[in-house]
Amino acid sequence: MRIGVPKEIKAQENRAGLTPPAVHELVRHGHEVLVQSGCGTGIGCDDAQYSAAGAHIVPSAADVFGAADMVVKVKEPQPSEIAMLRRGQLLFTYLHLAPDPQQTQGLLASGCTAIAYETITDAHGRLPLLAPMSEVAGRMAVQVGATALQRPNGGRGVLLGGVPGVAPGKVVVLGGGVVGTHAAKMAVGLGAEVTILDKSLPRLRELDDLFGGRVKLLYAAAAEVEQATRAADLIIGAVLVPGAAAPKLLSRAQVAQLQSGTVLVDVAIDQGGCFETSHATTHAEPTYVVDGVVHYCVANMPGGVPRTSTWALNNATLPFTLALANKGWRQACQDDPHLREGLNIHDGQLTYRAVGEALGLPW
Ligand code: NAD
Repeated sequence: MRIGVPKEIKAQENRAGLTPPAVHELVRHGHEVLVQSGCGTGIGCDDAQYSAAGAHIVPSAADVFGAADMVVKVKEPQPSEIAMLRRGQLLFTYLHLAPDPQQTQGLLASGCTAIAYETITDAHGRLPLLAPMSEVAGRMAVQVGATALQRPNGGRGVLLGGVPGVAPGKVVVLGGGVVGTHAAKMAVGLGAEVTILDKSLPRLRELDDLFGGRVKLLYAAAAEVEQATRAADLIIGAVLVPGAAAPKLLSRAQVAQLQSGTVLVDVAIDQGGCFETSHATTHAEPTYVVDGVVHYCVANMPGGVPRTSTWALNNATLPFTLALANKGWRQACQDDPHLREGLNIHDGQLTYRAVGEALGLPW
């Protein structure tokens, strides 16, 4: 199969659809890979590295879209890219169609077959192509939180690990799923005192096994959340109620009661955020202060570490990319019901129920 990777054009997107090792793997399986020149700039990979992996470098996105049987990307196609898609062509990328009627109509009109990373499932009903980005965001949350805690950045002036003779910083993680677990691992690694609060007892039991007593685990009743956060230096918002806006765990009045210089990292901001005072920020201006409390609310945290994020994403996508290339999408989806869950659009038809319901379109 001929596989094409255009350079991402969405604002502030530096990731790439395929890494050079992923290109090499596809070429090794007998496929041809076209990569747009400059595609890897944001991940520190130049055209020579892609060529060495076996890719053909082409000058423009039009060359990629014009010749490829399957286009592999990161972000949803932008209008100029949708205009280049054609009937029978396969698109494999993040789509997030439910809140995006314009993109959906564009893809339907193109006649292409679109498989979305975010709706592919695994044997446990989880979303394996979203998990790597939650891992990145969770680990990054502690890194950015530690930086914001420094006094010149508005924080309390607390070093999370403390030093011998001085107590470590207190980190409170709200929600112990993928983001929360990875945040807690980083905070524990730095030597901080870590508390995770979650509403799921089964999840708290799993975390107990995982952390073996190194982390305090509390059921997320409102009073426990209030008490734990009042004593915290760094609070990480990592809750998710699938398909719903994030629940608000701290009201404006409760945020005002926090210690001055406390840092809130609201990872759940992409679902509206779990603090009433949160609003989305960008990597260019990631923090703001409300009532002396520093807020970090970047909606695409993995975009800040595109190299790590691209490798993490490719590790998860590559088996599916290979299956699609080796077998064609029909056979690959027939063989793997989890990949079939990714099929959102085919030949002018919506094929994913939740998107149809969200947009009021037949599916
Ligand atoms: P997850 O489903 O793995 O975990 C969510 C956890 O929240 C679950 O354990 C659940 O029991 C818990 N929870 C739900 N309601 C709660 C409540 N009221 N109180 C306490 N705990 C509660 O989800 P995840 O992959 O960890 O993602 C968490 C959030 O981070 C999502 O909104 C996701 O979209 C977001 N995210 C943001 C970025 C970013 O760049 N900002 C990147 C990746 C993920």
